[in-house]
Amino acid sequence: MKGVSSEVLIALAGNPNCGKTTLFNAITGARQHVGNYPGITVEKKEGFYSLNGCQIRLVDLPGTYSLTAYSLEELVARDFLVQDRPRAVINIVDASNLERNLYLTVQLLELGLPVTLALNMIDAAMNRGIEIDAAELSRRLRVPVVPTVARVGKGKEELLETVLSVAEEDRPWEPLHISYGPDIDPVLDQMEALIRKAQFLTEAFPARWTALKYLEGDEQVLTKGREADWAISSRLERLSDQVTVHLRKTLDTYPEAIIADHRYGFIAALLKGGVLKQNKKADRLYLSDQLDRVLTNRFFGPVLMFIILYAVYQFTFNYSRLPIEWIEKGFASLSGFAETVLPRGPLKSLVISGIIDGVGSVVGFVPLIMFMFLAIAFLEDTGYLARVAYMLDRVFRTFGLHGNSVMAYIVSGGIAGGCAVPGVMATRTLRSSRERLATLLTAPFMNCGAKFPVFAMLIAAFFPANHALMMFCVTLLSWASALVVAKFIRSTLLRGPSTPFLLELPPYRLPTFKGLLIHTWERTWQYIQKAGTIILAFSMLFWALMAFPGLDERERGRFEEERAAVLSQVEPGDRELLRTIGEGETEIPAEFSEAVEELKEVDRREAQAALKRSYAGRLGTTLEAVTHWVGFDWRTNVALLSGFAAKEIIISTLGTAYSMGETGDEESVSLSRRLSGDSGWNPLKAFTLIVFIMLYAPCFATVTCIIKESGAWKWGLFSVVFNTLVALLASLLIYQGGLRLRLGV
Ligand code: GDP
Ligand code: MG
Repeated sequence: MKGVSSEVLIALAGNPNCGKTTLFNAITGARQHVGNYPGITVEKKEGFYSLNGCQIRLVDLPGTYSLTAYSLEELVARDFLVQDRPRAVINIVDASNLERNLYLTVQLLELGLPVTLALNMIDAAMNRGIEIDAAELSRRLRVPVVPTVARVGKGKEELLETVLSVAEEDRPWEPLHISYGPDIDPVLDQMEALIRKAQFLTEAFPARWTALKYLEGDEQVLTKGREADWAISSRLERLSDQVTVHLRKTLDTYPEAIIADHRYGFIAALLKGGVLKQNKKADRLYLSDQLDRVLTNRFFGPVLMFIILYAVYQFTFNYSRLPIEWIEKGFASLSGFAETVLPRGPLKSLVISGIIDGVGSVVGFVPLIMFMFLAIAFLEDTGYLARVAYMLDRVFRTFGLHGNSVMAYIVSGGIAGGCAVPGVMATRTLRSSRERLATLLTAPFMNCGAKFPVFAMLIAAFFPANHALMMFCVTLLSWASALVVAKFIRSTLLRGPSTPFLLELPPYRLPTFKGLLIHTWERTWQYIQKAGTIILAFSMLFWALMAFPGLDERERGRFEEERAAVLSQVEPGDRELLRTIGEGETEIPAEFSEAVEELKEVDRREAQAALKRSYAGRLGTTLEAVTHWVGFDWRTNVALLSGFAAKEIIISTLGTAYSMGETGDEESVSLSRRLSGDSGWNPLKAFTLIVFIMLYAPCFATVTCIIKESGAWKWGLFSVVFNTLVALLASLLIYQGGLRLRLGV
């Protein structure tokens, strides 16, 4: 009986960029976006339509190349298929790139799903001289195949009729059986028998599929298995380990690679003998291959890659400069306004230093993030990012990372002056969670644009003759640290194999402008919503740490007396005028300039005393117990603590701590002069501080993004503690080593 109650669930699965969204829109008519997200599409899109009196619910799964547990999208797609058990699955494939697209199909069939193949983009395939015998393909795969052109809605009706009839059949799942060769097949059979007998996870997965996942070392299935039946799971793991060891010894490979090889072999065999005809001439002219000859050329490839990555970097940071300046100007005039209307006191300080600066720092990142995602979306949608990964994979693999890690490093400041916030977000292009975590934990070692002014100030003070050389060394040092630490993390905490690089290079494609814009904005909005509130909260917390508890009555009275003493030197009538000068932008008459300077000096010493008494100042003093080993006193410590709010604040806090007043550009020069003349400072201490700033805890905006991107508080906390320990260790080596070598005197 069919009626309103009998809603039929159908899923739409396919590789990224195969036209899934286009088809989904054509079917449901829902107003959805067409295009690709840079990274993960975890939102579940649903649409409804009815056909022959049947209510159909269509779910658009995230685009994936595979059904492993390497990425969130793949897990989401897989979990949905297994748990919600759709009555039919439309597997949309790109006909112009059939071989690669069928890799997913094979896995869907191995799960036993009732698949209907939508052979999409036959127009594009035809243009490339590719002809596909759909009937023959259907006969060999034993699933219905319907050619479509989603962009114009061609084949849509036939597809829907076909899918509905599959759904109405409601047959039990029948897993496809592929041979995995003489090394794996016998074990696979053995495991399958064991699984069947013990009814192990059989309510969720076909037995052979579970066995395959054990061989592939699929973390999700392993965890599920251990929970379900520890004993059986251990036996399966032992069997799988034996094969792994055997394969390593005999073929120097691992089960996953063999499994992938055989899947591709299965597909290649399937497509032979008339299913797939390629017009050689058109194929040879096929632009993508030609482009790849240059773009992934052994010599030109890397050169062009660095030019392109440099261009991305320039684009991200240069084009975003103007909007960032507007935003900064806007917030500065807001501060200025608050400055004039609010009375002196803690409320004013909260509004200006806590709230306005806090909101400003959230909004200030927005242009950066937008431009970075736009650039990445472009590289990803055109298919170039896959080439970058392909070319750099070998180098980065040595350090337990992935070719795509380079993007995160460069955006974080690998070239000079990036930002770790978009850098951490750029790790979305990584599939393996271990490689992704290792990348996002080490990207903050790069020298972001906020660390640079601090380095510049210290270098100007202590290494004026070698400015460029020092900057270069600092950059090299940050790359070396990031890679070495990544290697360390990947061989301890995040141990595990690298993602096998199995995928072919997808063909180049021109992305749609609208798609790029929409998805850039979606990602950016996510940042504002998710990270924004936390950053704001942290900002206010920091303001409080530096502002409270403030001076007590007696101390404040002392500074008031000093002020009164200065004022007593001028005519009583002019005192009121002098009092207001410090607050507004009033013009200073020449005869008062000396008195005004003296008043400002009192203000500075008061600010210094208040800073020392603040919670941050006390913490800085307490920390001297540890930091004296690396030569830092309370002033440096409190500056470093404030640097956790934003690295560029280090300069202004140091300024206050040395009672230099609030620091602007000129004061950075005078601070530089002040430090170079201070007996407590020397080049060794300055260099130690540079290295410490380079490596210690990321600013909290970055930490917030680490938490959001890794999905766990513990990784944010880890980055704070671990990076600071790394920084301490490196500083200790440099400082104590330097002292032994008598560099500090
Ligand atoms: P998704 O990533 O699978 O959701 O792919 P989209 O639906 O966003 O489509 C990717 C691109 O392929 C878009 O530019 C579409 O306009 C285009 N496209 C979709 N279907 C067809 C088709 O049948 N033929 C051609 N030539 N292009 C298509
Ligand atoms: Mg899509």
